[in-house]
Amino acid sequence: MKNLQKILTTLLLAGATLACATACGPAPNDSVEHTHTYEKTVKAPTCTKIGYTIYACKCGDYYIDDRVQLLGHTVSDWIVDKEATYEEAGAQHVECTVCHEILQTKDIPILEEVIEELSYTLSKDETYYIVSGIGNCKDTDIVIPSTYNGKPVKTIGYLAFSRDKLTSVVIPDSVTMIDQMAFAMCDNLTSVVIPDSVTTINRMAFYNCDGLTSIVINGVTTIDKEAFFGCSGLTSIVIVDGVTTIGQAAFDWCKMLTIYCEAEEKPEGWDDNWNYCRKHSNGTDYCSVVWGYKSE
Ligand SMILES: [Zn+2]
Ligand SMILES: [Zn+2]
Repeated sequence: MKNLQKILTTLLLAGATLACATACGPAPNDSVEHTHTYEKTVKAPTCTKIGYTIYACKCGDYYIDDRVQLLGHTVSDWIVDKEATYEEAGAQHVECTVCHEILQTKDIPILEEVIEELSYTLSKDETYYIVSGIGNCKDTDIVIPSTYNGKPVKTIGYLAFSRDKLTSVVIPDSVTMIDQMAFAMCDNLTSVVIPDSVTTINRMAFYNCDGLTSIVINGVTTIDKEAFFGCSGLTSIVIVDGVTTIGQAAFDWCKMLTIYCEAEEKPEGWDDNWNYCRKHSNGTDYCSVVWGYKSE
């Protein structure tokens, strides 16, 4: 009897333990029986943050993998926020074209009144100015002023307007000399006003100005050699009585030119080949000359 009681007690104790175990369930972190099922969440990279993928299981377990490099900003050109005016500076910035983060800002300088002006050189004796170039002038119709900085403008300088796109030039009556190649290769030049004050037209001054059709030179005394070389559009020129010197081939390649001279015959100071002209339309190597021309 004593033995049976002992067995019953043991069974009862065992049953109690079993019942307890069923009611409490497994401990929360005890995953012996569970296989994780991960769901992917992809986080794409941005300009400033790396990309990655989160693998998460419903049980709360997760890990991060598949890291991708950040993209970096995509830089825009300067974007104007406010245009500059003559009173106030403007503003501009550079931003990322993707995330629009502002990456750089900068003022736009206040506008300055641009004065279009020819360029000038002061003479060696500092008493007058020489026009030395087109400067920042955009206009193709040029009126040269008679004074600059309070001093007279006396010379159109060496190569001053060479190859410029001038269409017309008015030379003031302060100018006495048109220097070498001053208007050389001004293909578009069709009109030049040379005042009586100009006494000297230097070598090749109007070289290859083939748009010129006529020219008046009332006060000139010296026309240097090749002064009008290649002015193939020039049809007439009047050489007034006061012209004492004309250099060799002053009108070479002026294919259509007739020269009207007030003088009755060639003055001594003119070169023997002053009117030499290749390919002249009359078939000679010299421009046609009309002596004793009377201006009206
Ligand atoms: Zn899990
Ligand atoms: Zn960005």
